[in-house]
Amino acid sequence: MQDDLTSRQTALALDPEVFRAIGHRLVDDLAEFLTRIPTRPVTSDDSPDAVRAAVGANGPLPEHGTDPAALLADLVPRLVSHSLLNAHPRFFGYITSSPAPIGVLGDFLAAAINANVGSWTLSPAATEIEAQTVRWTAEFIGFPADCGGLLVSGGNMANIVGVLAARAAAAPWDVRTQGVGAGGGRRLVAYASAETHTWIQKAADITGLGTDAIRWIPTGRDQRMDTHALEAAIDADRAAGHVPCVVVGTAGSVSTGAVDPLTAVAAICRARGIWFHVDGAYGGFAAAVADPDDDLRALSLADSVAVDPHKWLYAPLEAGCALVRDAAALRRAFAYHPPYYHFDEHVVNYVDYGPQNSRGFRALKVWLAMKQAGAAGYRQTIREDIALSQAMARAIAAHPELELVTQHLSIATFRFVPADLRASLSIPDVAAYVDALNRALLDRIQRGGELFVSNAVIDGRYLLRACIVNFHTSLADVHAVPEIVVEQGRRLDRAMRGELTR
Ligand SMILES: *Cc1c(COP(=O)(O)O)cnc(C)c1O
Repeated sequence: MQDDLTSRQTALALDPEVFRAIGHRLVDDLAEFLTRIPTRPVTSDDSPDAVRAAVGANGPLPEHGTDPAALLADLVPRLVSHSLLNAHPRFFGYITSSPAPIGVLGDFLAAAINANVGSWTLSPAATEIEAQTVRWTAEFIGFPADCGGLLVSGGNMANIVGVLAARAAAAPWDVRTQGVGAGGGRRLVAYASAETHTWIQKAADITGLGTDAIRWIPTGRDQRMDTHALEAAIDADRAAGHVPCVVVGTAGSVSTGAVDPLTAVAAICRARGIWFHVDGAYGGFAAAVADPDDDLRALSLADSVAVDPHKWLYAPLEAGCALVRDAAALRRAFAYHPPYYHFDEHVVNYVDYGPQNSRGFRALKVWLAMKQAGAAGYRQTIREDIALSQAMARAIAAHPELELVTQHLSIATFRFVPADLRASLSIPDVAAYVDALNRALLDRIQRGGELFVSNAVIDGRYLLRACIVNFHTSLADVHAVPEIVVEQGRRLDRAMRGELTR
């Protein structure tokens, strides 16, 4: 230990002038990076070893420190060349959006303020900004703005918060003190369509319901929940003495963007007094641009909704948002009052609204982007993403070697079918070959760096899947997709058939 603690020289101190100089350099480097993204490959095809070596994520913890200016200047180009660039105009993978630049600055600012948004006292401005962000989020999608809600890490957590609120409200016993097992043979059960994102399994597990308590409701050919099957499942559980805890409707499924018949599901839940939760992690924000009779609008009838600002509000990761119609129901699921907290009960203390204790200022990047774009700016951007996906679907459908399978919201699913095999897809061997071909094609496309798509499996068919939550994408990028896919598909087909006949 240093003997003189009257003027400490700590290893973490950064002279204000040095901070300023390094910060300016970093902003300059990032501005350059953001400008150059379209000229770079979407991702590099390096091995984990190569990536570790390139970014210096190997070796033991350094015993002695490094000059911070050199550290950052050296790291930025390495990080850039070994990251997948989801701000690339040809990134269509999964549902990861391009980040709004103001959100990037927002995270920087939030870290500098370092508000602990667990309690109002520790974060007066940040709490008020988060509360406003929650109200604006609700208002934008047509949910009551006086709901309870908070920012969380993403869609998974937002959905889990919804289920925890449902669990506390639904159990006829005090589930928070007595646990889920206190119902004796009566089990809390959850209903979700077979297309539901895998968060539902984590939620059933974490909430103690157990994944066996998930009733997987079949979907029709349109990938939407079969509501007759839902009613039958609820009635069967009630007859068996079980306790329906929550019905999950999906507003934009992860695979195809399909929207469950939320109006009908809401009516079923209302008639039977069951908590209605909507997973709008992907499609929730599209409710803002939906036609009045669109099922998306019916998320306004839910008891709780999960949305993901880091998807269709283009917030940099991480930002999910849980909304619960009855704010008191949300507090009833989370609040405790330990003796070591002395918090004013007349203000929002987010520690009472969710699972986290110390919390970062996630709302800032979302709030700043909402202010920059305005509701109209967001509606237009979301509409354009949808229009671009529809344009991509048309280009795919028009290509003789591509088969378009679905197009909902901003997701198109399709596959490459060699021209000579098109007529024989009903032959099992041919179908299996086309699946294998598209699987290999996906791998090749993802490694190639020209564009990035992901996959879906529909009716047993292996498909490519392009999702646009990307305000950098233009019509030219969308129209480039069929040629790139077919070009690589043909080459791969030749190579694979060459091997088969050898
Ligand atoms: C992305 C997604 C999730 C999970 O959200 P994360 O932010 O990745 O945790 C859940 N449901 C749907 C429909 C999604 O698209």
